[in-house]
Amino acid sequence: MVDIYAILRSIKEYADKNNVPIMMDDGIDFLTTYILKNHVKNVLEIGTAIGYSAIKMALVDPNLKITTIERDEGRYLEALKNIKSLGLEDRITLIYNDAFLVKIEDKFDLIFIDAAKAQNIKFFQMFEKNLTSNGAIITDNLKFHGLVDKKEEEIKSKNLRALIRKIKDYIEFLKANTKYDTEFFDIGDGISVSTKK
Ligand code: SAM
Repeated sequence: MVDIYAILRSIKEYADKNNVPIMMDDGIDFLTTYILKNHVKNVLEIGTAIGYSAIKMALVDPNLKITTIERDEGRYLEALKNIKSLGLEDRITLIYNDAFLVKIEDKFDLIFIDAAKAQNIKFFQMFEKNLTSNGAIITDNLKFHGLVDKKEEEIKSKNLRALIRKIKDYIEFLKANTKYDTEFFDIGDGISVSTKK
C-alpha cells in the first residue's frame, strides 16, 4: 500500500535538501480550503517545481483535475516521479515547457500563479483568458519572505531590489485592475485571490 504521508514527507525533505522552493504549509492549507469551499473542478498551476502543491491539491478532492507547467527539466522529472508514485497521473497533467510558450485553450476555475515572481503581471495577462466566469487567480509569495515590507535601502542585493519592485508593481496592478476583486491574505508568504467581477 502507498504511504501517502511518507511520500509527502520525502518530497518535502527533497525540496529542503535541494533548495527547491515549495509553498508553505499554511499557504497550502489556504489553497486547498479555497478549492473545497468553492467547489473548484479544475486548476491550472504555473510553476510545478517537484509537484508538491499539485499533489496536495489533488489529494483534497478525488475529482479535481490539475494541469501544471514547469520549465526546469530536473524538477519536471522529479515531479513526474512523485505524481506517479501516488498514482495521480490521471488527474495531474504535467507540461514540461516555459509557460509563455504553452498554448492552452481549456478553461479553469482556479489559476494558481507560483512561478518566476518578476513575471506575475505577464502570467496573469497571458492566462486570464483561461479563467471561467466565476473563477479566481491565486498568487503566492507577495510578501517574498518579508522583503516586500522592507525599505529598499535595507535590501543589499541589486537583483533582489529589482525583484521586490516587480512584486510591488504586481500588487499595484491587482489593486488597479477593475475587472477583478482582489483580496490580500497575510498567510504563508502572502497570498492574493483575484475573482472576476
Ligand atoms: N508550486 C510549487 C509548490 O508549491 O510545490 C512551487 C513552485 S516554485 C515556487 C516555482 C517554479 O516555477 C520553479 O520550479 C521554476 O522552475 C518554475 N518556473 C519559473 N518560471 C517559469 C516559466 N516561465 N514557465 C514554467 N515554469 C516556470
